[in-house]
Amino acid sequence: MSSPGKYEAEEPVAAAAPAALPEPVRSSARKAGHEPISHQHRDVSGGWLRPAVFGAMDGLVTNVSLISGVGGGGLDRHTIILTGLAGLAAGAFSMAAGEYVSVSSQNELVASEVDKERTELEHNPEAERRELVAMYRMRGVDADVADKFVRQLSRRPEETLRVHVREELGVDHHDLP
Ligand SMILES: [Zn+2]
Repeated sequence: MSSPGKYEAEEPVAAAAPAALPEPVRSSARKAGHEPISHQHRDVSGGWLRPAVFGAMDGLVTNVSLISGVGGGGLDRHTIILTGLAGLAAGAFSMAAGEYVSVSSQNELVASEVDKERTELEHNPEAERRELVAMYRMRGVDADVADKFVRQLSRRPEETLRVHVREELGVDHHDLP
């Protein structure tokens, strides 16, 4: 008695489900057959977000402190506004310079490590090949599959270097900030 009732309860839902989907969902599902990866990721590797938030907070705090200090000293309105604007400009320049220097230092460090890896791949290709195979095996890939994959990859030295750098340094040296 209970199972036909349960069936009846589920039946209309299952039948209604495809028709209940709104038009955009159905058309994107159709498109998905031809284009399985249709989403795009935002840049999460640092880039602009961290310095932008840091700069905005830094600018707010220092400028409010600056204006409060000058205002508390009993100066006239025009001097206070001028001080605020000067503080804003100084803050923007210092943030830009700081960001430029820190990003260049980081990129120089990556470049020198990439060079080290490139030299290693040129002088010790067999050990590097085994190293990469071991990394994929640690991730659960079968030995023969990992070996075949790494051998095929090694036909393209620049791509091999890129994979080594990604696996060992966690960055893509073709896509630095
Ligand atoms: Zn390596």
